[in-house]
Amino acid sequence: GRLVGATAEGEELAAEAALRPKDLAEFVGQPKVREQLDLVLRAARARGGTADHVLLSGAPGLGKTTLSMIIAAEMGAPIRITSGPAIQHAGDLAAILSSLAEGEVLFLDEIHRMSRPAEEMLYMAMEDFRVDVIVGKGPGATAIPLELPPFTLVGATTRAGLLPPPLRDRFGFTGHMEFYAPAELERVIHRSARLLDVTVSDGGAAEIAGRSRGTPRIANRLLRRVRDYAQVRGDGVVTEEAAARALTVFEVDDRGLDRLDRSVLEALLKLFGGGPVGLSTLAVAVGEERETVEEVAEPFLVREGLLARTPRGRVATPAAWAHLGLTPPPGTPA
Ligand code: ADP
Repeated sequence: GRLVGATAEGEELAAEAALRPKDLAEFVGQPKVREQLDLVLRAARARGGTADHVLLSGAPGLGKTTLSMIIAAEMGAPIRITSGPAIQHAGDLAAILSSLAEGEVLFLDEIHRMSRPAEEMLYMAMEDFRVDVIVGKGPGATAIPLELPPFTLVGATTRAGLLPPPLRDRFGFTGHMEFYAPAELERVIHRSARLLDVTVSDGGAAEIAGRSRGTPRIANRLLRRVRDYAQVRGDGVVTEEAAARALTVFEVDDRGLDRLDRSVLEALLKLFGGGPVGLSTLAVAVGEERETVEEVAEPFLVREGLLARTPRGRVATPAAWAHLGLTPPPGTPA
């Protein structure tokens, strides 16, 4: 996969599992969400009950899965992990719900991508701990009500606004995950380095943090690549210099842009004079799918103030010209 892409696979999954904080105290940053969750969980424990349903919103890699596991651990409950796209039919959801143990945490990633019938079944399950299982077809179909044990649903989504209001309203608490500040990422990196048994200087951690796009998953991934470099080309110690060289080898620049981000910007600047240009045209120019450009590259470029989405198309900002060391054509607004 891509070095800073959003999806985790293979070695990535195993590596991530090893670096997951196990309780709220170990979880770095997100002071608001941490305090709010701490209250919700403490109160539920004191009542001897099940925690209210929790919605976590935020970009990929900010710690939503990790927090769901922490919720289960803090409640002393088992956890089941699935995702919206994995639930094709309401029957798939019924099977999962009816096999939950009392107090179990059900983590539903990308909950906004669930099918409509499954979503409607979920409403009733969340509110009344009950589902109607439909048996048969056509006029002879009957709904058989099934009682569920109380459980805690932890839903995750990139944006809470993507959820239909009836679903959003059924969560007792919504935690909004923010991008991490550089100092917080440095703490994540130092913590991971200890677990990986790698020596990282403060300068090395700062260098990696600055290129990690505010995202712990990316910080951990870059740390592993810098470790590889330090091991093969150096003495194994991750210094500021080793980190900078390693990330140059892996084509992650000093602002965290990777190859895809840079090729999108370069096409926009060099082929289209900074825009405006349509998304499809831009995607063809860099040889990528529309969705890849829109969902993988653009959010970060927009956040960094390098690209703007306008009704007339994609436009480069003056900062984009400066970042690539190019001179904007005369007449470009500064
Ligand atoms: P999400 O579910 O939001 O995509 P994950 O929970 O899978 O993100 O986190 C991705 C990786 O980043 C995991 O390996 C996890 O250990 C690490 N991570 C995320 N948030 C934190 C944090 N607050 N402190 C330490 N590590 C974190």
